[in-house]
Amino acid sequence: MTNQRVCIIGGGPGGLASVKALNLEPSKSAIDLYELRSSFGGVWNYYPQKSKIRTDEEIKDNEIKDYSPVYKHLETNVIHELMAFSNFPFTCQNEFPTHEEVLKYLLDYSETIGDIDNLYFNHKVVEVIKIGNQWEVTAQSSKGSITKSYDYVIAANGHFYKPFYPEIPGLEQWHVNDPYSLTHAKFFNDGVDFKDKTVVLIGGFSSGSDIALHLSRYAKKIYVSLKPDAKVMGELDKINPFIEIIPEISSLDYESKTITTNDGQTIETDSIIVCAGYFYDLPFLKYSTICKKHYIDELYKQIFWYKDPSLMFLGLGRNVNPFPMIELQASVIARVITRRIPLPTMEEMEISYLEDIKQSGRGKSFHDYKPPKDLEYTKYWQDVIIQHQAQHGLNSPVYEGRRLELKMKAGEIKDQRIKSVNQKFLFKRGLISPSYP
Ligand SMILES: Cc1cc2nc3c(=O)[nH]c(=O)nc-3n(C[C@H](O)[C@H](O)[C@H](O)COP(=O)(O)OP(=O)(O)OC[C@H]3O[C@@H](n4cnc5c(N)ncnc54)[C@H](O)[C@@H]3O)c2cc1C
Repeated sequence: MTNQRVCIIGGGPGGLASVKALNLEPSKSAIDLYELRSSFGGVWNYYPQKSKIRTDEEIKDNEIKDYSPVYKHLETNVIHELMAFSNFPFTCQNEFPTHEEVLKYLLDYSETIGDIDNLYFNHKVVEVIKIGNQWEVTAQSSKGSITKSYDYVIAANGHFYKPFYPEIPGLEQWHVNDPYSLTHAKFFNDGVDFKDKTVVLIGGFSSGSDIALHLSRYAKKIYVSLKPDAKVMGELDKINPFIEIIPEISSLDYESKTITTNDGQTIETDSIIVCAGYFYDLPFLKYSTICKKHYIDELYKQIFWYKDPSLMFLGLGRNVNPFPMIELQASVIARVITRRIPLPTMEEMEISYLEDIKQSGRGKSFHDYKPPKDLEYTKYWQDVIIQHQAQHGLNSPVYEGRRLELKMKAGEIKDQRIKSVNQKFLFKRGLISPSYP
């Protein structure tokens, strides 16, 4: 018997895991999935032409407005053993898979998820609105638009699409005047595009650090502007002579092509790459105020809109292992949809949400689940699942034994990898001999 009608927005890891979780439930749901691209894989669909497309106008002209921030030589920032979905290991040789390998992994995974009643590739969801007790979802394609009704909506639309540019005097003016010399990490493709250039990076977290590393193979100098207490990964500033940390930037001047730092340094630069992250974005929830740019508000345990939990989210977490976290959330969502896990009352969910907000504050920290918070969160939901017939349905990987050990050392392992890639690049630039330790 078909029960609930479910709309999934997005065919990335989150959408795929949601389909799998629903199909593994004892009772069947009718599943529709909308994906604006022509295939599965989400951000792992790399567009090689990205480096040539930087202004909003050019993006529009090329009709790939939502193309991926993944760049040419990107490899994962976590070893594949920790990244994988349960019972579906990576088969690639590289410990840190390339983006091509991740895409292949996801396409292989998509073969295992079971049926989708209606799969709408090349369809962009443009409106989600509640009418009575149904969600009305409208999607657009080149052939026109369709509107269908659902009991549940799972928003698995990702959050690496809308670049965030910090408000620094002179930044907007520079970007408007020359979007090619002041750009965002989203549009970075290959270090070779910056050969012999001086480049300033604003922000040096995982993407910023990795981009600095890739630039250092070709650029003349890379300055990484960091907030106080922030660091680049792998201590790159100490082991790579091309990379230097500078304090936060107080102003930029497009005319003289200079930036000025908080401690009064003025630096002339050819290019600036903003590595400050992305806005959360739910453009299809036109009449809702829950999208606050740096976080999605009013959520119960990062998944359910507590005011109407038939609207669900997954993959919002920061500083987490995305695939296992997504799989956990999908397994919870599926059980809630098939009514195997009851949710608390709206009042109880609101209290829980307010408690979360009290602890995290309002802002991007609301979704920050760096260890041990992600472990506690995972344990919380896995315990709930165990109490509700865990033997049926999808289960997410448990952090114990070797997996837990690897998880606790994940940062250290990545730092070692960065150091070894760094050596390779310095060797290629003739700065160290092959016998360098
Ligand atoms: C540069 C970079 C490096 C990363 N490196 C790693 C890594 O090493 N390891 C790791 O685990 N994670 C990494 N991530 C995180 C990555 O986001 C996750 O791996 C994963 O892709 C999240 O899955 P998702 O399904 O939530 O989102 P996405 O992968 O973003 O998928 C969302 C999908 O929704 C579609 N969509 C969006 N809006 C609409 C709409 N309105 N209508 C229809 N479809 C829509 C998009 O086209 C997309 O296919 C990285 C991210 C970036 C940006």
